[in-house]
Amino acid sequence: MSAKSMDELVSLCKRRGFIFQSSEIYGGLQGMYDFGPLGVELKNNLKSAWWKSMVYERDDVEGLDASILTNQLVLNYSGHEDTFTDPLVDCKSCKSRWRADQIGDTCPNCGSKDLTDPRPFNLMFKTNVGPVEDEGSIAYLRPETAQQIFTNFKNIVDSTSRALPFGIAQIGKAFRNEITPRNFIFRVREFEQMELEFFVEPGEDNLWHDKWIEERSKWWESQGVSKKKIRFLEVPKDELSHYSKRTVDLMYEFPHGEEELEGIANRTDFDLGSHSKNQDQLNIQSKIRKNSDSNSRLAIQNKDTNEWIVPFVIEPSAGVERGVLAILNEAYKVEKLEDGKERIVLALKPHLSPIKAAVIPLKKNNDDLVSLAKNIKDELQSLGKGRVLLENTGNIGKSYRKHDEVGTPMCITIDFDSLENNTVTIRDRDSMDQKTYQIHELTSYFSNFFK
Ligand code: ATP
Repeated sequence: MSAKSMDELVSLCKRRGFIFQSSEIYGGLQGMYDFGPLGVELKNNLKSAWWKSMVYERDDVEGLDASILTNQLVLNYSGHEDTFTDPLVDCKSCKSRWRADQIGDTCPNCGSKDLTDPRPFNLMFKTNVGPVEDEGSIAYLRPETAQQIFTNFKNIVDSTSRALPFGIAQIGKAFRNEITPRNFIFRVREFEQMELEFFVEPGEDNLWHDKWIEERSKWWESQGVSKKKIRFLEVPKDELSHYSKRTVDLMYEFPHGEEELEGIANRTDFDLGSHSKNQDQLNIQSKIRKNSDSNSRLAIQNKDTNEWIVPFVIEPSAGVERGVLAILNEAYKVEKLEDGKERIVLALKPHLSPIKAAVIPLKKNNDDLVSLAKNIKDELQSLGKGRVLLENTGNIGKSYRKHDEVGTPMCITIDFDSLENNTVTIRDRDSMDQKTYQIHELTSYFSNFFK
C-alpha cells in the first residue's frame, strides 16, 4: 500500500532530511523546494538510472548539458514568447490570482464569482545578461531543456557523425512561473527535466512514438512505479502544444489525484524547421515562422541520396520532482508488526536508496568496534555503489527504525563476535531477517546485491 496522504510524505521528507521548503527561515519562496542530505541522493540516483537507460545502455543516443540562460531568439523562434502562456484570472473580491482552466467560475479562496476575464500570462522567467538592462540584453531561464538540444543539433551531428535514427538526452533545470504552484513538489517553479529528443525519418515517426511510449512506461515500472497506477492519456487535439502532432501523457495516481508524470510528444519537424536557415530549400512539413537570424541548416544528409532531411522528433519528457514524488508514494508503507506496533518502511528499489548500507557498531564508545566498523564502511564505500553510512549512535533499535524509514536496504551490525570470529550481522530492510556473514564475504555480498 502506498502513502495515505500527501501530509505523510511531506512529514517524512522533512523529518528525515529529504525535502525542505526553500528559504524557509524567511518564510519560504513559493514554488521552490530544497533537497536535503537524503533527497539529493535519491534525486541523483533517479537521474543516473535514467541516464544509464537512455544513454549508456543504448547505442543510438548522445548526451548534452547546455546552458540554462537562453538567447531570446531561441525562445522566440521556438514559439515560447508567443504561446507559452496560461490563462490568468484575478478575483476582484480577495485579490487572489488563479489559473482560469483550473478553477471554473468561482474563486477557491473566498467563493466569489466576481472574477476578471482570463488573460494570457507568459510562464517564462525573463532576465538581462550583462550590465545593461535594455531590450537587447533580454535572456530567459529555459522553460524546458529541449530547445538547446535543437540549437545544438548540427554541433552534435558534425562531432559524432550520427545518422538517423538517433537521440540527444539531457537532464537539467527548467523554470516556469506557474500561476499556482501546489501539491508539494508536484507543481513548482524551478524543477528538473529528463528529456530525450529522438530524431527519426519523417514517416517513421508514428512507429517510434509508439515504441517510446512502451519503453517509458516499462522504465517507470523498473523504478518501482506500479503499472496499475499508470494510465496512458491521449491528449485531445485541441489541447496539444503548438508543436505537437500527437502527445500521450503517462498519468500517475499521485496522493492528490491523477496527474501527468511524463509527456511523450511527437514534435514533428517544427523545432528544427523553426531554428533552421534556408528553410525554403528544405522540405519542412509543419507550420513555421520564417527565420532570418539562424546561421545553421538544421538538417541531416541522407548518405545514399545526398538529400537534406529535417528529421521528425519524438520527445519523452519527464520531471525529476514528479518522479521522486511518485517513487516516494509507491515506496512508503506502514506495516503492522507481530508485537502490535507499527513500522514505517520506505521500500525503495535498492539502486534508488539514498543510503546503500548502514554500518552500526554495537557500542559507540568501544574503539575496537568503531574502528572495525569504519574499516568496513570504507571498504564498501570504495565499491562505488553509492553512499555507505557509519551509524555510530550506539542504539541499534533506533538505527534500524531510522534506516527502515529512509529506505536503506541493509544494516550491518558490528558486535563482539565480529572482533572474535570475524562475523557481522546483516539485517534486511524488507524481511527484517538477520543473518550472519563472514567479514571476508561482505564485499561480494554487497556488490551482488546492487548489481
Ligand atoms: P502540466 O500540464 O502538469 O502543467 P505540462 O504538460 O506543462 O505539465 P510538459 O511541458 O509536458 O508539462 O513538461 C514535461 C514534464 O516536465 C512534465 O511531464 C512534468 O513531469 C514536468 N513538469 C512540467 N511542469 C512542471 C512543474 N511546474 N513542476 C514540476 N514538474 C513539471
